[in-house]
Amino acid sequence: MGHILFMEPVFKEMIWGGHRLKDVYNYPIPSDSTGECWAISAHKNGDCTILNGEYKGMKLSALYQQHRELFGDIKDPAFPLLIKIIDASSDLSVQVHPDDDYAAEHEHSLGKTECWYVLDAKPHTQMVMGHHAQTKEELIRYIKNDEYDRLLNKFEIQPGDFYYIPSGTIHAICKGSLIYEAQQSSDITYRVYDYHRKDKEGNERQLHVQQSIDVTTVPYCGTLQNEMHQEATDTFVSTCLIKAPYFSVSKLDILKKTSLMHHQPFSLFSVIEGEGTVNEVSIKKGQHFIVCHDVQKIDFDGPLTLMVTTL
Ligand code: ZN
Repeated sequence: MGHILFMEPVFKEMIWGGHRLKDVYNYPIPSDSTGECWAISAHKNGDCTILNGEYKGMKLSALYQQHRELFGDIKDPAFPLLIKIIDASSDLSVQVHPDDDYAAEHEHSLGKTECWYVLDAKPHTQMVMGHHAQTKEELIRYIKNDEYDRLLNKFEIQPGDFYYIPSGTIHAICKGSLIYEAQQSSDITYRVYDYHRKDKEGNERQLHVQQSIDVTTVPYCGTLQNEMHQEATDTFVSTCLIKAPYFSVSKLDILKKTSLMHHQPFSLFSVIEGEGTVNEVSIKKGQHFIVCHDVQKIDFDGPLTLMVTTL
């Protein structure tokens, strides 16, 4: 029947984190300022452990190196994707990520293109995406003069919104957001602006202004709007949110017993609502699993809502 690998997430405490990862998903978070659940990750800064089956106890990075056949024998030297759930109890810094070329040259890393599905947002929750500078000179002037209110493109978000954030896009998740994030497996963030917040010792967090100026795309062109393609039957609804160079993301609603064929090198699933089964194994909200290349058919029973990320 093939391998379905359940993940033990890694949790990250952040100054902007909260406790909704426990409240909503019942995760064993380390403190009430937990910002990130690295749900499916083989990155060295948060390598998930396999929870079940013959590879139980192994790190995902090691399994990827030793059993590439489970991942469709793809050529990427490291597992290419990373899935997170993010709880922002205060604003994240305004930041930008480099592309593959810049990251390879300066950080020996992959670049970072990411996307967000808004799982929940308190009323009037905002998001920062892009900027209003028309030239690099203008961008530098706004930054040097600390004119972030004029520079940044800010708007309100709603649960169910989806945003694609190619590398080079200035962005920030704001207070009140609970976000599903699919991204390239990279941890390179250049912080442009941190609202002049100070830590307990009275220090501001380090900024990376020059790198941010180097990598920011000017002018901001808006995010690519895919037409949301939907496939609906009486047993499931699949909504394609994006097909992009590094990943494709869809939302899958399982209404009742259904079988889906699996043709991907591998697929990353996150249960965001409900409970049911996958190939006879019980699953519930908050669980994350990889369907490997050797699984040809996936039997679901619901009601379930899942996020699905593939290459
Ligand atoms: Zn980011």
